[in-house]
Amino acid sequence: MAITITIPTALRRFADNQSRVEVNASTVAEALEALTRGYPQLRAHLYDADGKLRNFVRIYVNADDVRSRDAQAPLQDGDEISIVPSIAGGLDPIIPHRVKLTNEEIKRYSRHLILPEVGVEGQERLKAAKVLLIGSGGLGSPLALYLTAAGVGTIGMVEFDTVDFSNLQRQILHFTPDVGKPKLKSAEEKLKAINPNLRFIPHPVKLTSDNALDIIKDYDVVIDGTDNFPTRYLVNDACVMLKKPNVYGSIFRWEGMASVFAPHLGGPCYRCWYPEPPPPGMVPSCAEGGVLGVICGIIGNIQANEAVKLIIGKGKPLMGRLLRFDAMEMSFREYKIPRDPNCPVCGKNPTITKLIDYLEFCGLGRGEAEGTSGDSIVEQKKQEQLGPDDISVEQLKAMRDAGEDFLLVDVRNPDEFAICTIEGSYKLPLPELPQRYRELPKDKLIVVHCKSGGRSARAVQFLKQQGYTKVKNVAGGINAWAERIDPSVPQY
Ligand SMILES: [Zn+2]
Repeated sequence: MAITITIPTALRRFADNQSRVEVNASTVAEALEALTRGYPQLRAHLYDADGKLRNFVRIYVNADDVRSRDAQAPLQDGDEISIVPSIAGGLDPIIPHRVKLTNEEIKRYSRHLILPEVGVEGQERLKAAKVLLIGSGGLGSPLALYLTAAGVGTIGMVEFDTVDFSNLQRQILHFTPDVGKPKLKSAEEKLKAINPNLRFIPHPVKLTSDNALDIIKDYDVVIDGTDNFPTRYLVNDACVMLKKPNVYGSIFRWEGMASVFAPHLGGPCYRCWYPEPPPPGMVPSCAEGGVLGVICGIIGNIQANEAVKLIIGKGKPLMGRLLRFDAMEMSFREYKIPRDPNCPVCGKNPTITKLIDYLEFCGLGRGEAEGTSGDSIVEQKKQEQLGPDDISVEQLKAMRDAGEDFLLVDVRNPDEFAICTIEGSYKLPLPELPQRYRELPKDKLIVVHCKSGGRSARAVQFLKQQGYTKVKNVAGGINAWAERIDPSVPQY
């Protein structure tokens, strides 16, 4: 029966430069025999002198390593055999072409040029490379700075946010005088100051299913600097569909993770690892849980490092491997991420073949995942529109002034209580609500607030599900209270 054998790049020159060869065989042993009969030069690369398969060559039937099954076991029609050699040098450079350096650039990049793994060739590939950064926040900042300094020729940036005062603790691309300025403008000024050779392409939009393919298609590498799930799945799926490597990073509190997703280069994708997102609210965002600014620099630079390696085709990429960093322990650990043959997007029979509604997929309503800078989701000041369960801070003030009988419940975390509170509030952190909600009276109006209204809205939904009928959410939270009612309360 007809069996397809895929030939790895490194061995193609021994098989007339073909990437796939069809043979007639009924077992793996027969298939490899037929292959090496047709291309005798391959034999020495696959077998040792005793005729045994070499240790550094792996043969897969579909997704299964042939070592875990019998080479004499019958093949099924349509089976695919893959030869996967271990390659010390990693991958071929993803940038096949080069752009000549000017004399000024030769001087600028001299420390790269004398580095054997980069050299003139690698530097010319960097110049030819087009890298897309999703977000210019905590991760996007160090990424953009180092990639620009390193001589990446074209950097695109998807970002629609403005610089907020609370960004400055970690988003080192933006300076204090930039507060209020569009992040793209602030980014372009800094990056051009570092390296005027840079071609900077701003994308002042929110990445959506409607525009993602169009934006990403012109780039060679995509670097995901977001920390909201809808954008992360959107970036993953678009990159798989367009065959673009996706350099992933994420951060939370004192921890960070990084990996490279690239099914077209033999690695897994994000969905092979996590096919579905956690339910909304299960995983707190950085805006809720906090993040050490330095972590952004460490993880962002690991992403930048992986991008450079992919571009110049040197080293072992962080593909199929998850690197986890714990700053408190000061430890790096590595975990394997296998490719999932049943992955809904990069598997053998993908069920997701075009971009979907990612907010719905992640169980979020419209407007709940606005940020692209990663941690700007909650910080972002949304247009305040009062829903049926909402009251404004002005209404809350009037109710207090009139001496109305209600219980004000603060669902923020204890660390946030230490920053500021609204006097007289009952403190019940959202994560403890499922265990402690019975402390709240059912016969009294309950008014819930958090920092900016997101978590308290979730608390209101939860309480209604538990049979509470008189529950309201303070739109805009304590930040709106500080801004419009009591300026002595600090905003954070
Ligand atoms: Zn996958």
